[in-house]
Amino acid sequence: MNKVAFTLAALSCVVTMAAEAVALRLDGTTMGTSYRVDVADVPAGVTEDSLRDGVERVLTRIERQMSTYRSDSELSRFNDSDSTAWVTVSEDTATVVATALHVSRVSGGAFDVTVGPLVELWGFGVDRRSRHRPSAQALSTALARVGFERLEARLAPPALRKQRPDLTVDLSAIAKGFGVDRVADHLQAAGIGNYLIDIGGELRGRGRGPRGAEWSVAIEQPGGGGTAAMSVVRLDDAAIATSGTYRSYFDEGGQLYSHIIDPRTGMPVTHALASVSVIAPTTMRADALATAVLVLGPDEGLRLADKEGLAALLVVRSDKGFQARRTQEFARYEMRDGS
Ligand code: AMP
Ligand code: MG
Repeated sequence: MNKVAFTLAALSCVVTMAAEAVALRLDGTTMGTSYRVDVADVPAGVTEDSLRDGVERVLTRIERQMSTYRSDSELSRFNDSDSTAWVTVSEDTATVVATALHVSRVSGGAFDVTVGPLVELWGFGVDRRSRHRPSAQALSTALARVGFERLEARLAPPALRKQRPDLTVDLSAIAKGFGVDRVADHLQAAGIGNYLIDIGGELRGRGRGPRGAEWSVAIEQPGGGGTAAMSVVRLDDAAIATSGTYRSYFDEGGQLYSHIIDPRTGMPVTHALASVSVIAPTTMRADALATAVLVLGPDEGLRLADKEGLAALLVVRSDKGFQARRTQEFARYEMRDGS
């Protein structure tokens, strides 16, 4: 395939579009991963420095609101608090938690931002001690602290409430997508109409790319080292998020344990679904739904995607290698499949 023409939607952002092909490229790190903004044409009066300042301000604001790696973030303060009263937060944080709770309900609890104690227990959290299968006792203690039904979000005035003092919120599966959307707003406000934004493999494109064609994005084949694609999609005013089990896991006794946890059982998922990509109008929604479908697995996940009318591509491990299962909606965005 033509490597120059595509950007890879992967779990790490693999750069395949030549930097010189775009009028302006910003890159850096945020939310524990890397980000990239490609702009096809820059309006008069917009400089690289002014745009970088603006984008960094947006990203820093979101980290101050939602990072669990920062002990002084709005979310860390909510997590540390034992109060079961409403706690005032920013409109951004309330919006992200409200969307997360919606996706929890739609997915029957497969997606759950209160999953943090389980993520920590399995060694995938802030505290990355040795990763091993925890005891049944430790598992049930952590499970007791998990449950989206005990978390509420209110938009006006924006606030969060927990019904259990030890409930915590981890927005790792949705905040990157939200970040992409807010950066898109910033570019729009600066008069930029042709851009592709990528935070850690969650992408949103609008308008035309540098060669006048739509932005095209290749979905990586798991284990392909970033060189093979399962599909190539066009992104004009649309977002794509990819969630996978194949990049972050550990092996114990021949069993692979991934960083994606099923909150209903407390166990990392072990099914044959290697990755899920979802295309949606907002990156926040795509991000949360990709994780939700991944937790549900190849059959239940595809059923949810069909039922909700999602544009989803599921990459399933099989004896014959990786197989793609797609919803009808997804096929509408495809320029070609990866075969
Ligand atoms: P993503 O890459 O968007 O799928 O997000 C994965 C991250 O979300 C993990 O590293 C965990 O911190 C967290 N997570 C794991 N399982 C779940 C789940 N079932 N629901 C919500 N977040 C999860
Ligand atoms: Mg996600």
